[in-house]
Amino acid sequence: MATLEMKDLVVSVEGNTILHGINLIVNGGETHAIMGPNGTGKSTLAQIIMGHPKYKIESGEILLDGVNINDMPVDERSRKGIFLAMQNPVEVPGVTNFDFVKTAVTSRLPKEKHLRIGKFILEFEDSAKELKMGSGLAHRFLNQGFSGGEKKRNEILQMKLLKPSIAFLDEIDSGLDVDALRIVGENVTSMKSPQLGMVLITHYQRLLDYIVPDFVHIMIKGNIVKTGGKELIEKIDSSGYDWLKEELGISDFEEKKVQYSLGTCATKSIK
Ligand code: ADP
Ligand code: MG
Repeated sequence: MATLEMKDLVVSVEGNTILHGINLIVNGGETHAIMGPNGTGKSTLAQIIMGHPKYKIESGEILLDGVNINDMPVDERSRKGIFLAMQNPVEVPGVTNFDFVKTAVTSRLPKEKHLRIGKFILEFEDSAKELKMGSGLAHRFLNQGFSGGEKKRNEILQMKLLKPSIAFLDEIDSGLDVDALRIVGENVTSMKSPQLGMVLITHYQRLLDYIVPDFVHIMIKGNIVKTGGKELIEKIDSSGYDWLKEELGISDFEEKKVQYSLGTCATKSIK
């Protein structure tokens, strides 16, 4: 069972401090949800955990099973069991979907072990079927020409095959219609186990109808300002984030209200 701990994590991107001291512990078997308005730092947290070189740890620590991984390269983090389903998966022309996952899975095997290719092909096909992804997917270039929904399912396909011990799923629900959301939700839920600690990053309550979290954290302006259970999801769904203003006395929240209102963000299509 893995444990990922974020200790007073302060993170900047291109000179701007985005995260202001995140403290969070994710244990195997737990499902956490991080909710929050757009631009609040949710993806920044996911990226820094995976080790994206553009994001810089100013202070604080990321500990995997008690060991500091602040400077660990991305591939090593992956081998240690950390996985990120990206908000915007990258298209890689020239590399087939199958080769990509096969290479990733192979590189995570201990040196003396070889991938049993026949077994892996069957597993790939079964997983694609479970996600109701079309046939021929294996030989298409990674994410190239995939619809938004297909890209998201493809992230989950990778997760099923890589079997991580700590997984961040960044807005895995965006771009999914109701049926696709149910399929993704069911597949992710079926992966829940004491060996997997999960962090679901989402705007919307609808994903959390399908994947029930144990803990819900609200992130505003680069801080986790509130942690609770499922009851927080309904509250956010019905009242947005405004009610936190009074409770927390965030002084400039009023002026930022428009920016922080989920509905307004959606209509303005802010990232
Ligand atoms: P969220 O996922 O909560 O919507 P992000 O973590 O994507 O928020 O962004 C938080 C803030 O960091 C935003 O103000 C955004 O503009 C800024 N930011 C994120 N990524 C970059 C980047 N690569 N370069 C510059 N600024 C960035
Ligand atoms: Mg984001």
